[in-house]
Amino acid sequence: MEQTLQVGLGERSYPISIGSGVLDSIGNRLRAANIAKRYALISDDQVAGLYGARVLQSLSDAGLSCELLTFPHGEISKHLQTIGDLASGLAERGFDRKDGLIALGGGVTGDITGFLAAIYMRGIPFVQVPTTLLAQVDSSVGGKTGVDIPQGKNLIGAFYQPKAVFIDTEVLGTLASTEFIGGMAEVIKYGASIDADFFAWLGENRQAILALEPSCIIPMIRRCCEMKATVVEQDEREGGLRRILNFGHTIGHAVEAASGYQLIHGFAVAIGMVAVTELAVKSGLAASGVAGSIRELLEAYELPTA
Ligand code: NAD
Repeated sequence: MEQTLQVGLGERSYPISIGSGVLDSIGNRLRAANIAKRYALISDDQVAGLYGARVLQSLSDAGLSCELLTFPHGEISKHLQTIGDLASGLAERGFDRKDGLIALGGGVTGDITGFLAAIYMRGIPFVQVPTTLLAQVDSSVGGKTGVDIPQGKNLIGAFYQPKAVFIDTEVLGTLASTEFIGGMAEVIKYGASIDADFFAWLGENRQAILALEPSCIIPMIRRCCEMKATVVEQDEREGGLRRILNFGHTIGHAVEAASGYQLIHGFAVAIGMVAVTELAVKSGLAASGVAGSIRELLEAYELPTA
């Protein structure tokens, strides 16, 4: 059932493994990949409590040394102070350039850990173990890392690719349903902007997807990662094509900001996708009916559209 694919970026290429129960074999996978001498497992307090021990055990069983460093969960932690605190934690433990980081968590953890890896000792390797749907289909792939400053989101950061991405679909079982549904907005985004067959498939398989059936969830995540990888391979630094992945995000970000960041990201993106498509229809850039079918699929997943 496990699926793998490759992000092809020359020397910076890396594999993505997707399956159920991947978490318990991360130690063996890391040992086989020979990425680092020892590891720091970086996670927010919530995810660390749920899955930290399992990942630590897996590394220990594989004979790899690993220490856990945590920070409080939520976007509120995605700032420079957290980076400074984690860097001090690494330095106090004697982590050097031969060591690596493991990002275990959602997009916040991935963005923080990736940025820390990019700048700690001018760059150390890291791997992504995404645990939210959003992180599994989007943020863990592609190498965008960074933190927020009071002037705006993601204003400080770096393009820095992971050495591998390990996706365990089983962990979605503990994710709050709003977080899962929010992630579905990004999944629908891929269908709406890149792959019409996938868009239709999402409509046909709604029940199985919402029931987290591995036979649907694994291929769904794989297809999203594949689309993201294909775009990133052609435009790693968002000079042109990669902007396709921002479909719905310009208006979405405005809606998110106007809500005082109370509305979850995926919900704002859902509203943004419908609004921008309606504008496109009005401007003669999209056929009439397109906005309606996007709205219909979003509503089928109980996402807001206005
Ligand atoms: P998040 O990392 O804050 O996770 C959401 C919540 O879910 C957190 O409270 C977390 O503790 C909890 N959680 C995570 N996994 C869980 C699990 N398996 N079971 C139970 N609880 C779990 O948020 P997110 O939505 O994953 O990511 C949002 C962030 O991602 C934003 O900061 C956004 O800017 C960033 N992002 C980055 C990219 C990129 O390309 N780098 C792309 C999209 C979004």
